[in-house]
Amino acid sequence: MESSAQEINRLFELQKINQYEVANAPLKVRKAKLKALLKALTLTFRQALRDAMYADFKKPAADVDLSEIFPVTSEIKHTLSHINHWAARQPVNTPMAFLGSTSYIQYEPKGVCLIIAPWNFPVNLLLSPLVSAIAAGNTAILKPSEFTPHTSLVIEKIIKSIFEEKEVAVVQGAVETSQMLLQLPFNHIFFTGSPAVGKIVMAAAAKNLASVTLELGGKSPTIVDETASINSAAKRIVWGKFHNSGQICIAPDYVLVHESKKDELIAKMKVTLKNFYGEDPSKSDSYGHIVNQKHVDRVNGYIIDSVEKGAKIVHGGKSVVTGSFIEPTLVTDVPEDTPLMQNEIFGPVLPIITFKTLDEVVNRLSQDEKPLALYIYSNSDRNIEFLMKNTRAGNSCINQNDLHYYNADLPFGGSNNSGIGKAHGFFGFQEFSNARGVYRQHLPPALEMLMPPYNNLKNRLIEWVVKLF
Ligand code: NAD
Repeated sequence: MESSAQEINRLFELQKINQYEVANAPLKVRKAKLKALLKALTLTFRQALRDAMYADFKKPAADVDLSEIFPVTSEIKHTLSHINHWAARQPVNTPMAFLGSTSYIQYEPKGVCLIIAPWNFPVNLLLSPLVSAIAAGNTAILKPSEFTPHTSLVIEKIIKSIFEEKEVAVVQGAVETSQMLLQLPFNHIFFTGSPAVGKIVMAAAAKNLASVTLELGGKSPTIVDETASINSAAKRIVWGKFHNSGQICIAPDYVLVHESKKDELIAKMKVTLKNFYGEDPSKSDSYGHIVNQKHVDRVNGYIIDSVEKGAKIVHGGKSVVTGSFIEPTLVTDVPEDTPLMQNEIFGPVLPIITFKTLDEVVNRLSQDEKPLALYIYSNSDRNIEFLMKNTRAGNSCINQNDLHYYNADLPFGGSNNSGIGKAHGFFGFQEFSNARGVYRQHLPPALEMLMPPYNNLKNRLIEWVVKLF
């Protein structure tokens, strides 16, 4: 059920009034809430979440456990073991010139936060940022995606079972609801979604000078050079690209493979696809479906258009027209001026493009937006270093893809068009905190000797200070 403007305003005002109570509760209260969320995800609501995501887009239960529940529970566990340190005062040096004082950083909550999530990982991408928001002592309003309604309802039940609405509340609805929320003067907005909507969110935040974390998307290139181990590259790329039916922000969007390795890579990808999803992936319990007809039509449109312009399907290409299934598809010879190569694919289609030299690769990538992730498959340290130095990306994996997401000690996020700000672990905690710098005077400061009125002696002392410190 869509929340009304009146209801949204009521929740916002309630949280605004309550924010200091939430912020000033002892750390053990934040920890207790996180533990309750852990229990809800691993025990009480686990099956309900699996059922809901199967109803929404036939997500296999194992995928729900691995890519929806596990990332949130591991984020909670990581946070529980570090929160004492993160929330404690962080002493910093004070320059000698200010002898008699000490300085420290106190991370304080930003206040009332808004978290807007997309549909592709509806639990993970809504609740992982919530873990950081709670750890940092904020209140939060959550807006799940309208495209996964069964899951959004279970999320609302989970939140209501743990939090009072003055602490954390769920607002249901689509674009209009999102726009109503964006008009409110939140202290921080954490948005996960497309770059196009990210720009709308940032423009709305600017009106209130709200800080933003934008977790966006884009085309993540995957480079396979002539020294790469093709067996493992094929297996890892196929997994990273085709689980969740390619609806993953960090999925390899397309592969740039050295021309000498193209045939071997394609042959091994085909074998891996059969091993993963059988002869007929539409019957596989391990292969997810596309979220709705609009996205089926969009991805199918990309395939049809590129084939019309000369691309070759070397594996897959079929879809069930009235359903929500598209076969895992490998394409070669895709012209650059096709929607497949111009847009983020966000579906189970993998273009494979050849290159001759790494210079060619970096020239090509320098003309594109900075991707959310860039993956390098290589056994040459020289090639890896060259690519790392001459490309830009939010994150990278070397001889792997996607798995950087699961390491809470790494900052997760994009750069410019693929995002602003970082999530996970301490980086997520920081994002939801103001690093309040505190300077405390203990003894009368020497600086007082330099205060007006100025005279020759003071001018000489100032000269000395400028030279010495
Ligand atoms: P989307 O941007 O269309 O929608 C995301 C959220 O924004 C939804 O809750 C939606 O209701 C809301 N929204 C949509 N249009 C809006 C508007 N005009 N004004 C205000 N709010 C609006 O994204 P999506 O289709 O749900 O998800 C796919 C995109 O998300 C892809 O680009 C993908 O790469 C990106 N993504 C990024 C990450 C990440 O962590 N960086 C993770 C998952 C998905």
